[in-house]
Amino acid sequence: MSKRQLAMVMDLNKCIGCQTCTVACKTQWTNRNGREYMYWNNVETYPGAGYPKNWMELGGGFDAAGDLQPGVIPNLEADYGVPWDYNYDELQNGASFEPNVEPTWGPNWDEDQGAGAFPQDNYFFYLPRICNHCTNPGCLSACPRDAIFKREQDGVVLVDLDRCQGYRYCIAGCPYKKIYFNPKISKSEKCILCFPRVEQGLPPACAQQCVGRIRFVGFLDDEEGQVSKLVNKYKVALGLRPEYGTQPNVYYVPPTESPAKFDAEGKIIEGSTRLPVEELEKLFGPDVHQAIATLKAEMKKRKETGESELMDILIAYQHSDMFRLDNNYYQEVAKAAGQTPLAPVDNRYVAGKHTSTKHVMNFTHGGHAAGGHH
Ligand code: SF4
Ligand code: SF4
Repeated sequence: MSKRQLAMVMDLNKCIGCQTCTVACKTQWTNRNGREYMYWNNVETYPGAGYPKNWMELGGGFDAAGDLQPGVIPNLEADYGVPWDYNYDELQNGASFEPNVEPTWGPNWDEDQGAGAFPQDNYFFYLPRICNHCTNPGCLSACPRDAIFKREQDGVVLVDLDRCQGYRYCIAGCPYKKIYFNPKISKSEKCILCFPRVEQGLPPACAQQCVGRIRFVGFLDDEEGQVSKLVNKYKVALGLRPEYGTQPNVYYVPPTESPAKFDAEGKIIEGSTRLPVEELEKLFGPDVHQAIATLKAEMKKRKETGESELMDILIAYQHSDMFRLDNNYYQEVAKAAGQTPLAPVDNRYVAGKHTSTKHVMNFTHGGHAAGGHH
């Protein structure tokens, strides 16, 4: 177990399925060199097959006795989907716009399909997923090379690529299927929780770019932080599929409000709700009932009295307030390990703050020298 644990809370009431997080992650980490098919962050429609296809049925994780369960390695073509491109170069010669492979499956293949019958009782919501940086990681337990480790300072789960031999037991062992095989280098790779950003006090790219402002990031032991309050104080943020036994550190505020159903004449059925609570129980376990009750009670309190710390946290008035990261902490960790600590980004790139104006280079604009001494 790590000394401290970094965690993320995602408020599913606010996710609009825009995939900005997916793109932020992909452009940052996985757009080439054997990683094309990987989505360290994906946003799937629930109910749905998800990504990789039917990942909830592929095994891994632990049973009640703590024994690692057998799991399946998803198939690239059938379960992930071969990434495709288009024949842009041929278009100028009159060719029609065609993908370079015949796609049969991919992330979001079943986007927005959901369940139920339209328009009476159809429903779905978006489920963003990253590696859960589990306290008891199935990937780590499955690796016979000890190539996967959990960082002491923040619990981030990483692959030591020098040790990894590409056996892929980790992929079978992860019940969330959030670790991937890179065929170009024959190694496993996964979400790194943007640790190079986090160490500088910046949130992971997916959280920074989140349009719906659904993602909180912070340490679980930081009692004043929103993450700790949502998880430990109010208990409204829950791990996904807790029965897998990996103790995930990504938590979800379950969706609480869904529209009413329609009857055969298209009239609203008063008091009905489209989203079956059994589906939420399947995802988040029995604690979801109390979490929903707390959320509804606090919403009511806020409407009646104007006050609710929980609602204030979830509204997230300032995006920057959603992240409680601590560059000083990482500086201390680096110093204790005899390494040179990273300066905070804000201190590093402030023009002139740490530079002598005597040595500033001159640039020319329209033939006139600019800059120089002041
Ligand atoms: S989600 Fe999977 S890959 Fe991530 S730490 Fe847990 S078991 Fe490992
Ligand atoms: S960026 Fe935020 S709102 Fe958009 S899909 Fe991702 S988690 Fe949802």
